[in-house]
Amino acid sequence: MNWQRFLSEVESFEGTCRGLRVSSEVTPQDLRRELASQFAFSDRMDSVEVIDRVESLLQRFNTHVTHPRYFGLFNPSVRPICVAADAMAALYNPQLATWSHAPAACELEQFTLHALAERIGLEREQLVCNFTSGGAEANLSATLVALAHQFPQSCEMGLGAVRPRIYLTSESHHSFVKIAKMTGMGLQSLQEVPVDSALKMDVRALERMVHQDRAAGLSPMMVVGTAGTTAAGIVDSLSSLANVCKQQQLWFHVDAAWGGSAGLSARLRHVLDGIAEADSVTWDAHKWLFVPMGAGMFFCRHREAVQRAFATQTSYMPSQVSSDADDPYQVTTQWSRRMIGLKVFMAVAELGWDKLASLIDHQAAMGDALRVKLVQAGWIIMNQSDLPVVCFTHPKIQCGERTTQQVLQAIYARGAVWISDVSLGGKDRVLRACITSYATESEDLDCLMGEVDAALVG
Ligand SMILES: *Cc1c(COP(=O)(O)O)cnc(C)c1O
Repeated sequence: MNWQRFLSEVESFEGTCRGLRVSSEVTPQDLRRELASQFAFSDRMDSVEVIDRVESLLQRFNTHVTHPRYFGLFNPSVRPICVAADAMAALYNPQLATWSHAPAACELEQFTLHALAERIGLEREQLVCNFTSGGAEANLSATLVALAHQFPQSCEMGLGAVRPRIYLTSESHHSFVKIAKMTGMGLQSLQEVPVDSALKMDVRALERMVHQDRAAGLSPMMVVGTAGTTAAGIVDSLSSLANVCKQQQLWFHVDAAWGGSAGLSARLRHVLDGIAEADSVTWDAHKWLFVPMGAGMFFCRHREAVQRAFATQTSYMPSQVSSDADDPYQVTTQWSRRMIGLKVFMAVAELGWDKLASLIDHQAAMGDALRVKLVQAGWIIMNQSDLPVVCFTHPKIQCGERTTQQVLQAIYARGAVWISDVSLGGKDRVLRACITSYATESEDLDCLMGEVDAALVG
């Protein structure tokens, strides 16, 4: 196999990518035909041929989320060094279930997680942290640990008579819907708290609902504050929510899947004020830390609760080496564990804190520039956020002359940029553009402006 050629592709892909359509309009039928005709699996195939054909499929028939003109859903451009990291993780295939099988890998991951935690102001003492497949698994971990902490008997007895309540908003991430079902807590455990006009959780309404639930015999358990909502980059009033949680003895989880990275920038750090008071935090490296999927992170400052939630006894697993070196399978949802954190470690090591912060600031500056361009061209900004996600509409959309779906279809047909649409607070759909690539520059914003303006007239 010609590794040299693959390596040069990795190095030049950022440039190659610019020349590709951002999205593809392929149909399932087209792809199934293509696969069946290219891969019979009946004879051996040369490895270079396999690689070539797969690359061609991936280049032609995917949405290129690392494209500088992909203004989509928090999927970042990837530093080339992370490709080396993922290849190394595959090559050595370290098994991180136990510390004793992968001392270097486990310590390297903990080193990375603690360094990142410290940068966003989470206290080191008692902090338990681990990499997850993504934010959904980190949010699931938070829910399981909260359950073990608030209702210890549930570990033995199941939910039984306990009817836990999780408080969130219409703007919270919908992984909690799946979590309610997966944990057996049921959808009725989710209590949607109203949002104010800025789409933040209404703190007074939260207090009222907690009291009402207690009076009704339900068991308030956890409040989910979001730092950077998926739709509009809104940050809940974390300090106020932390106060309510303290008074009411509720678990305070902060879902900072995307927004957590703002904590690495001196300019943006303020958006996370209050996060240090969280009992647990979700932060995805694969959202805004320039690494490929999947790399979520879970942080929690209640070691005992984490152990209660996840620890188990077996005869076949190697025993723990030292009380200050957790075996990951004892403190996380996973058993066999891939070395998720190497790509995060290598991206941070290569860039250093200052360059990391400058890439994050650059994306925020591109978001600000986009807002200015949109307003100048007669568009209306619909969200207030310091983070680079811009929700916008136009009088022609508001009066029904054109729908956001028609605008998107015109844009996707041309394939020069990719944006999406979304409903904020349950209202009419608006367009949404997020600066997800550190390589996005002013001319890419001009291209986006040309595309939305053209799509508006049809
Ligand atoms: C993306 C996202 C999640 C889910 O994370 P995955 O990495 O996709 O599993 C959870 N919460 C928020 C706020 C998100 O933006």
